[in-house]
Amino acid sequence: MTRVQERNESAWLIPNDGTRANHGLRRDMRRFADEDEIDLVIVGCGAGGSVLLQRLARAGWRVAALDAGPFWDPDQDWVSDEAGSHHLYWTEPRVIDGADPVPMGSNNSGRGVGGSMVHYAGYTPRFHPSDFHTWSQDGVGADWPISYPDLLPYYTAIEEELPVAGEHWPWGDPHGYPHRPHPVGGNGEVFLRGARALGITAKVGPVAIPNGRFGNRPHCIYRGFCLQGCKVNAKASPLITHIPDALSRGAEVRADSMVTRVAVDERTGRATGVHYVRGGRERFQRARLVAVAGYSIETPRLLLNSASKRFPDGLCNDFDQVGRYLMVQGAPQTAGRFDDEVRMYKAPPPEVSSEQFYETDPAQPYRRGFAIQNVSPLPITWAEHVAAQGHWGRALRDYMSDYVHWCTLGALCEFLPQPDNRVTLDDEQDRYGLPVARFSYSQCGNDTQLLHAAQRVMEDILHAAGADEVITIQRFAHLVGGARMAADEQHGVVDGTCRSFAVPNLYLTDGSVLPTQGSANPALTIMAVAARAAGLLRAGARGGMVV
Ligand SMILES: Cc1cc2nc3c(=O)[nH]c(=O)nc-3n(C[C@H](O)[C@H](O)[C@H](O)COP(=O)(O)OP(=O)(O)OC[C@H]3O[C@@H](n4cnc5c(N)ncnc54)[C@H](O)[C@@H]3O)c2cc1C
Ligand code: SF4
Repeated sequence: MTRVQERNESAWLIPNDGTRANHGLRRDMRRFADEDEIDLVIVGCGAGGSVLLQRLARAGWRVAALDAGPFWDPDQDWVSDEAGSHHLYWTEPRVIDGADPVPMGSNNSGRGVGGSMVHYAGYTPRFHPSDFHTWSQDGVGADWPISYPDLLPYYTAIEEELPVAGEHWPWGDPHGYPHRPHPVGGNGEVFLRGARALGITAKVGPVAIPNGRFGNRPHCIYRGFCLQGCKVNAKASPLITHIPDALSRGAEVRADSMVTRVAVDERTGRATGVHYVRGGRERFQRARLVAVAGYSIETPRLLLNSASKRFPDGLCNDFDQVGRYLMVQGAPQTAGRFDDEVRMYKAPPPEVSSEQFYETDPAQPYRRGFAIQNVSPLPITWAEHVAAQGHWGRALRDYMSDYVHWCTLGALCEFLPQPDNRVTLDDEQDRYGLPVARFSYSQCGNDTQLLHAAQRVMEDILHAAGADEVITIQRFAHLVGGARMAADEQHGVVDGTCRSFAVPNLYLTDGSVLPTQGSANPALTIMAVAARAAGLLRAGARGGMVV
C-alpha cells in the first residue's frame, strides 16, 4: 500500500472495469436520519466541503455533507462537449452590478458533488508566502491570521492526494511535485518558445492530473475536455479524490439538498443544524457542529439569509463583514496566430505557467502582480473570444475556420480586496423563495494597471514566438473571499481555524475565507485550508476542547 493510499484510498475505490463511479459505495453509504444529532453537517460538497468530510469521516465522526446539486455519474451525466456541459454550472439567478460587473455562470461556480472543481481547468499552484502578509509587505490587501508555514504540511498532503504533476517550482517557496511534468502540446510549446526568446522563465505544470495511472484512475488521454468534467477520471476533483474515501469511512453525501438556513438557538447562540429542501419537502438536519462550504457567493448569501432575532442583520454579521472583500482575479486572455498549425485543443488546457511577475516589482507603479498560463479555449469559447473583438458574420466564420492556427495564453491578475466589492441580498427571489445574491464589483486603479501589464507581456511572448496577429479578451476568474478570516471580528467573519467569531460551533471551510488571492488559482489553497481546519477540529475533539 502506498503512503497516500493509507491516508486516502479514493483512487483505489474507483472501479477498475471501465466504469467510472463506485455504485456499490454510493448505494451502501451510511444514511443518517434528520433527527439524529450528527457530529457535523457540511453545506456544500466542493473543494472545501469534501476535504473536511473525508478528514472527519476518517476520524470516526458522524458527518454528512448536503449539496444542492446531483451526485454526478461521469458515465451517465457528462459528455465531452462544450454545449452539453452546461448543467455542471451554478445557473441559479444572481444579480450583478458595480462599475465592473462580473458575469456569472460557467466561468464561476459549479453545482453538484465535487463542486466547481468538476469543471475547473486543473491548475493547482500554491500561494506564495508573501500572499499571507501583503498589507505588512506591500501596503495593500490584508494580512492573514495564519502564515504560509501553517499551511505547508496541508499543501504537501493535498498535492499527493490529487496528485499534482509538474516541474520543480522555482517561485514562492520553491518545491517539487509528486508526479513528473506531462508532455506539452502545441499551445505549451508556443508559450515555452516565446518565453525563452524573452528570457522569461516558464515551467510545465502544476496540474492536478496524474502523470500515469493513479490507483484505478487511468492516464490522461490529452483530449482537452478538462473544463467539461473529464469523463476519463484523469483530472482530479473531489468527486474522485475525496468523496469515495469519505463514503467508505462512514460519511453520508446527501445530494439534491438545498440548504436554506443555518439554525441557531436563540438562548445559547449555538448552531443546531440546517434547514434544507429535498424532493420538494422542507427538512431539518440536527448537528453538533455546522460547516458552510458553498462557494464565495452562496456562503455569504446563506449567512445573510439566516438572520434571526439574535442576528438581525444576518448570521455572523454584527460587524457588517459578511459578503465584503469578495475578490475575482483579472483574467485577460491573449491569442496569437501562427502560420503552422498549433491545435491548442490537443492537450489539457492547463500546461505551462510562469510566476515570474507574481511579486511586487518596485520598478512598477502597481503593487502585487500576475501569473501567465496556457489556456486552450474550445470552439464555442473561441467564438466568444473572436466575437469580443467585434468580428461577426463572414469575419467570425473566417476566424473560426482558422482555429487550428491559434494559441491562447491567460493571465491571472491579483485584484485587491475592497470592502465595497460584496454580496448583499436582492429583492428578487429564487425558486425556493429565498432572496438571491446581489454581487457588486468595481476595479481599483491598481487592478487596471495589472491588467494592462499582463496583456503586454502575453502579447510580447506570442510575438516573440512568431505570431503575426494577437487579439485579447477581458475576463474575470476565480471568486474568493466574502467571509474572510481575520485576527478579530471587526475585520472578518472567521478566525485562523475557520471558526466563526460569532457562533462557536459554526465553521466556514471554502474559498470565502481567503483574505487575499495572489495570482494563483485557488483550489489547492482552499483544500489545504479545509484540511487544516479538519486537523484542528480532530485535535480539539481528542483534547476534549469544547467545539
Ligand atoms: C471554469 C472554471 C475553471 C477553474 N479553473 C481552476 C483551476 O484551474 N485551478 C483552480 O485552482 N481553480 C479553478 N477554478 C476555481 C475552483 O474550482 C474553485 O475556486 C473551488 O472549487 C471553490 O471551492 P469551494 O469549496 O469554495 O466551492 P465549490 O467547489 O464551488 O463547492 C461549493 C458547493 O456548494 C454547493 N452549494 C452551494 N450553496 C449550497 C446550498 N445552499 N446548499 C447546498 N449546497 C450548496 C454547490 O452545489 C457546490 O457543489 C475554476 C473554476 C471554474 C468555474
Ligand atoms: S485532457 Fe486529460 S485531464 Fe483533461 S479531460 Fe482529457 S483526459 Fe481528462
